[in-house]
Amino acid sequence: MIVIAVDGPSAAGKGTISLMLAKHFNFGYLDTGTLYRSVAYLMLEKKLDPSNPEKAEKTALSLQKTNLYDLNSNPNIRLENVSKAASLVSAIPQVRKALLNVQKNFAQNPYFPNGKAAKGAVLDGRDIGKYVCPDAQVKLFITAETKIRAERRYKELLSKGFSVIYNNVLADMEERDLRDKSRAANPMCPAEDALIIDTSDMDISTVFAKALAFAESRIELPFKA
Ligand code: C5P
Repeated sequence: MIVIAVDGPSAAGKGTISLMLAKHFNFGYLDTGTLYRSVAYLMLEKKLDPSNPEKAEKTALSLQKTNLYDLNSNPNIRLENVSKAASLVSAIPQVRKALLNVQKNFAQNPYFPNGKAAKGAVLDGRDIGKYVCPDAQVKLFITAETKIRAERRYKELLSKGFSVIYNNVLADMEERDLRDKSRAANPMCPAEDALIIDTSDMDISTVFAKALAFAESRIELPFKA
């Protein structure tokens, strides 16, 4: 199975690039952030404390049999309070363990939203290249300066009609970045064999061209799109 692992902090462009790669190669796509977000959302719905390890693990285990594309269709998982809770649940080792199986299963048996099997998978997240799919043929780490990422997130939230303050978006992003990088269980960090792309001064087509050239250099010929 061909696997493309795309890691990096939020608002660096990894979701867009992952979708473009999945479309180009006709692979299945898993945004692994939706898993952590869904655990957080389900816990908040039930008024559970998102930093409670036992309850969080139980909630994570309940996602095992879900069609993973369905999780993305719930717009509420993108709300700010859910983002904060997702950052908390993602630091719990039992949650990471429960979701590791879900992610590995998708990487080994990827599928499209209609359930049809795919010949390869693109997974995006924080720890895919290093921990979830260490054997992935293609590993990318997409990053950008914090202020630029905060500005992108700020504009995105404004365009969706949310009233937000830039400094709060920046502070939230710094806090979550720190938690992602410093947690004991699978902290965010580029794999040794990942291509690191800093998108601070790049438009999306330039980033995609770099990512695609790298992917094509790593993927065996019969699978080239
Ligand atoms: O990427 P996104 O912002 O949707 O991720 C939501 C949360 O899930 C983040 O706080 C991040 O820390 C966490 N996450 C993670 N590991 C992944 C993907 C996301 O810890 N592979």
